[in-house]
Amino acid sequence: MTAFHRTAAWGALVRRMRPVLQAQVDAGTAVCLDCGRPVLPGDRWQVGHRLGRDSHPHLALMDWNVGTSHGGQKGRSCNQRAGARYGNAKRAARAKRSTEMLPW
Ligand SMILES: [Zn+2]
Repeated sequence: MTAFHRTAAWGALVRRMRPVLQAQVDAGTAVCLDCGRPVLPGDRWQVGHRLGRDSHPHLALMDWNVGTSHGGQKGRSCNQRAGARYGNAKRAARAKRSTEMLPW
């Protein structure tokens, strides 16, 4: 969990959107943002971003930019995998930059 996910603004958005998204799950219309598979009633899920916070920070708190993503402690956890992919890519880019020689 990042510092962003501990902010009051994110917490308020999640509290507002969870019932809306839960209704979609219960109706059988929810789709995982990360794997594209259905999020079925009884599945563990989390509120995730459609357009990532890294590439679209100005959209991070928009209602329409969040949706369901499989997540939690058991079963599929697409939300955590997506976060790990993002974190690993960011670390790799930082490591590459730090080892590159400056052109003279
Ligand atoms: Zn998924």
